[in-house]
Amino acid sequence: MTARQKEQRNASNKRRKQERRAWIQGYKMATGCALCGFKAHPEALQLHHLDPTQKTRTFGNSYLCSWDTLRAELVKCQILCANCHAIVEAGKRGGAGLAR
Ligand SMILES: [Zn+2]
Repeated sequence: MTARQKEQRNASNKRRKQERRAWIQGYKMATGCALCGFKAHPEALQLHHLDPTQKTRTFGNSYLCSWDTLRAELVKCQILCANCHAIVEAGKRGGAGLAR
């Protein structure tokens, strides 16, 4: 692969990543937290895997996968705000959590 090809591939990957990130953020904002309804900021909304055994990839590195793969992963998740997510995770570890 030439330097120019590498440059083009990197630019294309960057664009794909930005598109997917924007789409995921829009999805989060449209959905909002499943528990408290928060939807003021996409960075405070997180994807919570309902069944961790079904987790095939984390969203941090999923930006380059196909749209179908991304959608398939999203349907396994619930949108939770950072606070509710922390409480749900604490509950799973045996701490005081919500009934979930
Ligand atoms: Zn919440």
